[in-house]
Amino acid sequence: MSYDFDLFVIGAGSGGVRAARFAAGYGARVAVAESRYLGGTCVNVGCVPKKLLVYGAHFSEEFEQAGNFGWTLEPAKFDWPTLIRNKNREITRLNGIYRNLLINSGVTLLEGHAKMLDDHTVEIDGTRITAANILIATGGWPVIPDIPGREHAIGSNEVFFLEQLPKRVIVVGGGYIAVEFASIFNGLGAQTTQLYRSELFLRGFDGAVREHLKDELLKSGIDLRFNSDISRIDKQADGSLLATLKDGSTLVADCVFYATGRRPMLDNLGLENTSVTLDSRGHIKVDEHYRTEAKSVFAIGDVIGRVQLTPVALAEGMAVARQLFKADEYRGVDYQMIPTAVFSLPNIGTVGMSEEQAREAGHTLKVYESRFRPMKLTLGESQERTLMKLVVDAETDRVLGCHMVGPDAGEIIQGLAVAIKAGATKAIFDDTIGVHPTAAEEFVTMRTPVDR
Ligand code: FAD
Ligand code: NDP
Repeated sequence: MSYDFDLFVIGAGSGGVRAARFAAGYGARVAVAESRYLGGTCVNVGCVPKKLLVYGAHFSEEFEQAGNFGWTLEPAKFDWPTLIRNKNREITRLNGIYRNLLINSGVTLLEGHAKMLDDHTVEIDGTRITAANILIATGGWPVIPDIPGREHAIGSNEVFFLEQLPKRVIVVGGGYIAVEFASIFNGLGAQTTQLYRSELFLRGFDGAVREHLKDELLKSGIDLRFNSDISRIDKQADGSLLATLKDGSTLVADCVFYATGRRPMLDNLGLENTSVTLDSRGHIKVDEHYRTEAKSVFAIGDVIGRVQLTPVALAEGMAVARQLFKADEYRGVDYQMIPTAVFSLPNIGTVGMSEEQAREAGHTLKVYESRFRPMKLTLGESQERTLMKLVVDAETDRVLGCHMVGPDAGEIIQGLAVAIKAGATKAIFDDTIGVHPTAAEEFVTMRTPVDR
């Protein structure tokens, strides 16, 4: 049977664009459908605008520190609409780049909602299109718990478009997005409260990292509360929001921002017309080659719920393109040692196992930790401290995990990830000459394991 395309990609986000471009580059006839925005979550309401807001928020600290280096500044004033306007302009530019990338690589771009009619057929704006293979790369969507007054809360899709910076904001959640936005709001001058429902936020990260960031966020002025959650939200006569917490206490705010996880985006996708199935958590079920129960249908990225990070979606997209159209270059995605950063202020940068995971996996460990005041802060009063930590297998000397909380941790951890991935031992770290004076050199100068 002949099909209109060799590959039809649903979703022009991180994973979909990568798969479409590579497949077209390998000579396949490729179409991609996008219903909302080119570049997907990361470009429009994720990594990119978030990082721009983090840069914006960091200035308040820089202004404070400038005085210690002899600068006299006018009292700094911040204008949220300017930041949002400039951010929007940059995102529009990136949308154009994504459009050109697709078109210039020979991909047919169809702007509209795609619905699957069977394992080989997609309908978009009333037109039926057939493809030998279909790739679902539809991403995820924020989930806000169903509490009374939920309609007064916002999620990450809305937060990037607020007209004004709220004076008082409550951030709910203890994952990446909540922690990053608590830092953004706080840095930009909003009175910020963060509520997390259990003992300690950032579940899954190294224990020392979680504790250290907690201390730093508290020092930075965030009202961080654990074992705390909202039971209802009421709008008051003056327009403010009254949040009633589960312990009966109340908080008044101008904005309640939920960052409580994301669900796979399957809305009106027509999966019921196909042989595609879902896993127990509601994500699209795929095998190790991203193939669904329907032989001709693949899925990658947030919609399969493995590791919800842009570089992972990119790697999965490339793997599918190669598998289908460049088999000799196909290799699967290695999910070991994925580095990641939380762009809180200060950042977390991490790669490999946490101390807890390493112990649970049965390793006997040597753990190295260093805490110090970043040099840049030594001329002033700031008590911010940096944490660096190495988790080392005592038997093989292999470094199992590298963790940092401190300025530029996201930048520093990328290079370390290469060493860890290559199987570096602690002896190799010790033999590496440091770059002086930097914070990063601490990773090659830690000599004495902590006494547990
Ligand atoms: P997406 O990028 O979400 O793309 C899916 C696309 O499919 C969307 O454009 C959508 O409109 C489209 N679509 C959906 N259904 C249909 C349909 N039926 N028809 C046509 N089109 C459809 N990751 C990082 O690595 N670093 C970060 O700093 C980071 N920060 C983040 C900050 C926030 C606030 C959020 C929400 C996420 C962040 N992420 C970050 C995660 C990252 O954005 C995602 O992991 C990544 O975008 C997933 O890519 P994807 O291709 O699976 O889906
Ligand atoms: P996460 O899954 O990281 O965190 C969700 C948080 O919300 C957790 O603390 C969770 O608590 C809490 N939570 C879940 N349900 C409820 C509820 N009903 N009531 C109260 N709290 C609740 O999701 P995010 O939304 O922060 O981010 C989604 C994903 O996007 C991340 O996992 C990450 O993969 C990606 N991302 C990556 C970034 C980066 O690379 N820098 C930045 C932003 C996002 P508990 O732990 O107790 O379950």
